[in-house]
Amino acid sequence: MASGAKSLWMMPHSSKPAPSLKLSSFRDLFVFTRRAFGLVWTTSRPLAYAFCFFTLLAGCLPGVLAFVGKLLVDGVVTAQLQHNPDPAMKYVLLEAAAVMALALVQRAISVVQALLRAQLGYRVNEMILAKALSLDLRHFEDSEFYDKLSQARRQASMRPLSLVNRTFDVLQQMIILLTYGTLLWAFSPWAVLLLVLAGLPTFWVEARFSSEAFQLFNWRSPETRRQMYLEHLIANDDYAKEIKLFGLGPLFLERYRNIFHEAYGLDRRLALRRAAWTYLWGMLGTCALYGAYLWIVKATVEGHLSLGEMTMYLVVFKQGQQAVTSSLASIGGMYEDNLYLSNLYDFLEIPVETPGEGASQGPEPGQGLRFEAVSFAYPGSQEPALREVSFHLRPGQKLALVGENGSGKTTIVKLLSRLYRPTSGAIFLDGLDLQQWDEVALRRRIGVIFQDFVRYQFIVGENIGVGDVSGLDDEARWKDAAEKGQAQEVIEGLPQGYNTQLGRWFKGGRELSGGQWQKVALSRAFMRQGADLLVLDEPTSAVDPKAEVQIFEHFRDVTQNQMAILISHRFSTVRMADEILVLDKGKVTEFGSHEQLLELDGHYSHLFRLQAAGYR
Ligand code: ADP
Repeated sequence: MASGAKSLWMMPHSSKPAPSLKLSSFRDLFVFTRRAFGLVWTTSRPLAYAFCFFTLLAGCLPGVLAFVGKLLVDGVVTAQLQHNPDPAMKYVLLEAAAVMALALVQRAISVVQALLRAQLGYRVNEMILAKALSLDLRHFEDSEFYDKLSQARRQASMRPLSLVNRTFDVLQQMIILLTYGTLLWAFSPWAVLLLVLAGLPTFWVEARFSSEAFQLFNWRSPETRRQMYLEHLIANDDYAKEIKLFGLGPLFLERYRNIFHEAYGLDRRLALRRAAWTYLWGMLGTCALYGAYLWIVKATVEGHLSLGEMTMYLVVFKQGQQAVTSSLASIGGMYEDNLYLSNLYDFLEIPVETPGEGASQGPEPGQGLRFEAVSFAYPGSQEPALREVSFHLRPGQKLALVGENGSGKTTIVKLLSRLYRPTSGAIFLDGLDLQQWDEVALRRRIGVIFQDFVRYQFIVGENIGVGDVSGLDDEARWKDAAEKGQAQEVIEGLPQGYNTQLGRWFKGGRELSGGQWQKVALSRAFMRQGADLLVLDEPTSAVDPKAEVQIFEHFRDVTQNQMAILISHRFSTVRMADEILVLDKGKVTEFGSHEQLLELDGHYSHLFRLQAAGYR
């Protein structure tokens, strides 16, 4: 089916190959069906049982109705002959009762479906989010990963229930068909065969177009993400300022429009072709239906069937054909759901390294942090971001990293916080390779504030509390950390103090200036009371120079026994560090104290004089 489906539509960009279809055989249809059932079963057993029970009932009742219909017509004929309406009346009541029962069962099924939809939608989304949390940073730097994530999020949350619904629908239609088939068999086995065969062409067309729609969906994923990104840019407060000033709005909207129109063109083509083919093949089924009508009517006229039997066969044939079409459409739908679920499971099964039991202590406590010939290249990048970097930081020492943009300062921080693994060389904390540390123990020892820290739209206190989840709600610790991070003054000036909502998304939110935000972020570092290494990656670039000097003097005082690594472009701050490491294109070019480096009269002293001259 894959190759056939591919040839059915033209690809607008020849540079992009259509993804190959994974499900190719009929057996594959059921690969994910079992898992979808497992999902429903583990989500709610009572609902799963109820769904099953009502489906069985809904399958049996139409056969009962058709049979009661026959009894009724024959009853009327007999009643006319005998001039006694009672037997006929009895069947009217019986049919009314059966119709009411069927309506009740159908209502019950839709309630169960609605409840399951809510629970399953939530559950699958939760699975997707939990998976996203378990992935490494490198995954988030890969565009294919985003495609998988967005495919899973956009479609997959509805698909498991849809698959289960359809499976039950097939089951229900099968029961209906079985009862109808039994009734019709008495008329002619050929009629039963005709009933089934007439539905097959529509089924085939549906399945074929399902797989085509799926390929289109997958192939278009990057475009859809681009569209979502444009939406995000246009409708988000963070970007509003720049978009207005640069007049980017109409341009972005135009791009958004173009993506839509290209996608719409393909969708329309597919929808029209799908409708035309389904209609044509559907007509074939209608011809079969009326052929059978002719046959039944003729048999009745010739006296082989009673009027009641004729009515029953006509109903059975007409509704039986609907049941065939409907169950085959459901099977086609199951095929489609399976395709989409393959996306979901592709995403959920992205392999992650589960960290083994790590150590929570090193063999040489008090050794500090040691980089030994560490080199690193980002995934997919040829150029190394760090080349053979070595240094040793002892407890209580403060180290400053200096270098131009892109020289590798932040990369050092990412490596020592184990967000990435060195390509070669090793990093030791207390004499133990970072990779062998237990994740939780390591995170407890190191506190990092990145320059692009997150501005959470939570209350101020929580914005500090996130520095240590165990103290997220601990007001006393917020205050202590805010004092150390010099954010206290800012926070006390806010209307509700530590309980002031930040950001503009939620009611009563206040916005802080860049420098004020940095003080809040800096306070996060001080939530890590137990950390023996604090890393501050340009956390004070937006704070005025005088305040920055104060902050770092204070920082020295409160972190006397802790190691610290600072990144700053201000030499007034850098010179306070015990050691300074100068980086150029990922290589260490100079290392020593401020005085030593000035004496060396190299790059550092050149930059220092340049900046000092600027301030004069
Ligand atoms: P600095 O902090 O000194 O400004 P970085 O450590 O951020 O520099 O970057 C060092 C080099 O690594 C730069 O050439 C940059 O382009 C590259 N780089 C940084 N982050 C990534 C990333 N996530 N993926 C690929 N390359 C990166």
